[in-house]
Amino acid sequence: METVYGNKAETLIFKTDKFKRVINHVLLGTRLDVVNEKQDAYEIDARGRGKSGWVKKKDVRNTPILKIFFVDVAQGDGAIIESPEGIILLDGGPSSKYYKFILHRYKRILKDEGEINIKAIIMSHPDWDHFNGLTPIINDSRFKIEHIYHNGIIRYDKKPPGRNTKMGRTTNQIINGKTRTVLTETYSSLSDAKKLIDGGFLMSTFKKFWQAAINAKKQGRLKGAKCLTIHNKTIDGFDRSSNNCLRIEILGPVPSSNKDDKLEYITFPEAENIAKENPGISDSHTINGHSLVLKFLYGDHSILLGGDLNIPAELHLLAHYGDKNPFRVDVAKACHHGSSDYLVDYLKKVKPMANVVSSGDNKSFDHPMSDAVGSSCRHTRGDHPLFFSTELARATSSSGTHYGLINLRSNGKILAMAQMKEQHKKVDVWDSYTIPWNGKFHHEIKEYKKNN
Ligand SMILES: [Zn+2]
Repeated sequence: METVYGNKAETLIFKTDKFKRVINHVLLGTRLDVVNEKQDAYEIDARGRGKSGWVKKKDVRNTPILKIFFVDVAQGDGAIIESPEGIILLDGGPSSKYYKFILHRYKRILKDEGEINIKAIIMSHPDWDHFNGLTPIINDSRFKIEHIYHNGIIRYDKKPPGRNTKMGRTTNQIINGKTRTVLTETYSSLSDAKKLIDGGFLMSTFKKFWQAAINAKKQGRLKGAKCLTIHNKTIDGFDRSSNNCLRIEILGPVPSSNKDDKLEYITFPEAENIAKENPGISDSHTINGHSLVLKFLYGDHSILLGGDLNIPAELHLLAHYGDKNPFRVDVAKACHHGSSDYLVDYLKKVKPMANVVSSGDNKSFDHPMSDAVGSSCRHTRGDHPLFFSTELARATSSSGTHYGLINLRSNGKILAMAQMKEQHKKVDVWDSYTIPWNGKFHHEIKEYKKNN
């Protein structure tokens, strides 16, 4: 039997084909299996997303749409991007939470087909709260992965012999008439990763990640790995432009070498006055600052995910793009889990209609910071700025923790976001919003104005 997908912000499921009693509603793009058909109605199996019943044919479509899941991985980032072109896993958090969610989400496909195809695994930058949770997926023989993409920065354990940073060797170079410190030791392919492992001194989680990838390649489950920068412009398979295709633009990192085959990164802080005021700035600023910055375009909509950018990195990006503004989007993931290390000028360029923060409760991190939440909402378009947080969406009760999932859906024309409601029911219950959002109580306010 055929498969259809919800094509309304919320598609109603009725008890019968007379469409009188609503028994369930599913989010835009939810897959529904057709079990019976009448002239203007389908009887559908909701595939575990609440009660099955009847939908109006005009409320569904025949092709899948764009879905982005911001998974509550605690302190870290982990997103799943499902598109008509395939599945992308963008960062995977620090622990097994992301892997567990993936197994839950693709339970039915894994049961029916025994395997799942992943178009791309992307490590925005080599911090373990972004890549460590991807390792069990790469190790799972049921996952077939086309490519792993990364930003080319290496993670050593402390400073290995012959290197002056935990990322590798740097040299001083004259760039635009100024002496700058440049990271000259980088990598790209799986054979590069193998050489790094053989050379020793890698951070253990980083080594495990690449060892898993090398094993997957040996088993014929992974084609290869590649470093991405702005010179790549896009990702293979995500370069077409049409209403029903996902397109990806690479807006960062911006390497200091212009030659594609010689990848080098300026080491931050590039703004000396910030360095003086913040002596704590270190290698981690460079590792975070050269995060992959990806813009996802689908139909009328755009979404920006920029890893763990910080002030020097945002200055570096703004200086590179000058008067151009490729950063403006509809929805943005807050950089660095909502840290205070953000540039207001950068937020003004992005100016989305909704923000998403992925963060956790770990004591040593206070993400999201109060000023980052305030500033990102202030620089959001519209009178009802939307702010989603995996921590706010999370709920705890005597029966356990219910992890907070933030959901984005676009069919190219309708853009909807939803968070799981804090209810402990067998099926998912959503608090959903269409973008642009005009406020939940819009009509009531109109009434009030009329009567007063
Ligand atoms: Zn991070």
